Amino acid sequence: MISLVLQAERIAARWVASLASAALGFPSMASYSGFRILTEGLTGNSGWRPAWRKPEPKPAYDAIVIGGGGHGLATAFYLASIHGITNVAVLERGPIGMGNTGRNTTIVRSNYLLPENHHFYEHSLKLWEGLEQSLGYNVMMSQRGVLNLFHSDAQRNAFTRRGNAMRLAGIDAELIGPAEVKAMCPLIDLDNARYPVMGGLLQRRGGTARHDAVAWGFAHAADARGVDIIEHCEVTSMIIEGGAIMGVRTTRGDIMAPKVGLAVAGNTSVLCAMAGLTVPVESHLMQAFVSEGLKPLIDHVITFGAQHFYISQSDKGGLVFGGGLDGYSSYGQRGTLPEAEHIFAAGASLMPGLKRVRALRSWAGVMDMTPDASPYICLTPIKGLTLTGGWNYGGFKATPGSGWCHAWTMAKQEPHRLNAAYTLTRFKEGRMLDEKGAGPFFWMQ
Ligand SMILES: Cc1cc2nc3c(=O)[nH]c(=O)nc-3n(C[C@H](O)[C@H](O)[C@H](O)COP(=O)(O)OP(=O)(O)OC[C@H]3O[C@@H](n4cnc5c(N)ncnc54)[C@H](O)[C@@H]3O)c2cc1C
Repeated sequence: MISLVLQAERIAARWVASLASAALGFPSMASYSGFRILTEGLTGNSGWRPAWRKPEPKPAYDAIVIGGGGHGLATAFYLASIHGITNVAVLERGPIGMGNTGRNTTIVRSNYLLPENHHFYEHSLKLWEGLEQSLGYNVMMSQRGVLNLFHSDAQRNAFTRRGNAMRLAGIDAELIGPAEVKAMCPLIDLDNARYPVMGGLLQRRGGTARHDAVAWGFAHAADARGVDIIEHCEVTSMIIEGGAIMGVRTTRGDIMAPKVGLAVAGNTSVLCAMAGLTVPVESHLMQAFVSEGLKPLIDHVITFGAQHFYISQSDKGGLVFGGGLDGYSSYGQRGTLPEAEHIFAAGASLMPGLKRVRALRSWAGVMDMTPDASPYICLTPIKGLTLTGGWNYGGFKATPGSGWCHAWTMAKQEPHRLNAAYTLTRFKEGRMLDEKGAGPFFWMQ
């Protein structure tokens, strides 16, 4: 009964928001309701409008966000929806969502060890849990559970410590034994001679979301609130006077704004260099793969603890899997064969049945690696210039949380407590957030 009332309230709120946005001349926020789909289906699907406008850039805005991936679009959405800053442009050099946002393996979780990290990622996971209602868009959020397997006593101790740290912070975590692992995924070879599976750390609220839909949903909802999303507009340099940002030079002319936020992932060091800043970020390649479509085989997200391998199954039936970095710095978006071979070998070792599955597609993204595997959401030495970046290979799950905190930091020109530790200066100050305990090596994170 209570959930019915809540649902009715949500529908009513959507209608009010829809009428308000229609009155303001923005695309309707209720455009994807069940009623709308039914009426469009009966009238030849002729009434659909583009999910976001294609505006010409204005000469000036109150704020500019560079990068039309999930993080940039989320920043713009929260600037408009929470802070009331709607005179905002998102500048994207290509089409939106074609960077790492459209290239990842879509895993969402908050199972981090360090308090600074697990609080931030838990905030992000909570935003994911209500994201479809906030955006009025189906991002296919699927809380199917993320299971990290362990293969030795030492690894079990490390996972137990991580799970306990999470539970103390009110985040769900369960340690399960081999029998439960087998029941969850019969394909797993528990008795692997080299890497026997001794159990796993399970976060049931973790899962996956459809990556493209996340970019489209944030774009749709930001546009509906008045944000200009300007595609095919590359930022080529920064306009800085007296130590403060004034605007940017782009392939479509100069655009002025007193606040500029960077959300460019693998290009973070390139854009920071335009502002005269050297930042602790290295760009590395990482690959992902999709198999031919199969009947449902793997119901959860499973990660192999002995080698770098993780896998889930998409709603279309393809197995989506990946591994670690390719091992050298690059801005290419294609991976190398030795790393591909390593990933396939790890998969076959964990689930021997996979040897008979054919891979259909592969690609790579450019990862913004930091020396301690933790990100940056912060002010920079240039007044008015802020940054969200250094997402390593874990930034998809951070998309709403990063946008939320970056919008706060842009709007107020000071960090929220959730991102206060994510500074560029933490290495100088001896406040590293070494999540993986791998030391100060970009490529080992
Ligand atoms: C293979 C792979 C698997 C991954 N798996 C996961 C996972 O399972 N879970 C997880 O949490 N994370 C994962 N990640 C990481 C995740 O994809 C990224 O951290 C996240 O998507 C970064 O989003 P973003 O919006 O910051 O970057 P992007 O989506 O890359 O957006 C940055 C945008 O900036 C634009 N840009 C760059 N330079 C300029 C310029 N000069 N002017 C204008 N625009 C510019 C780019 O074109 C790009 O669209 C994975 C990444 C890869 C590559």
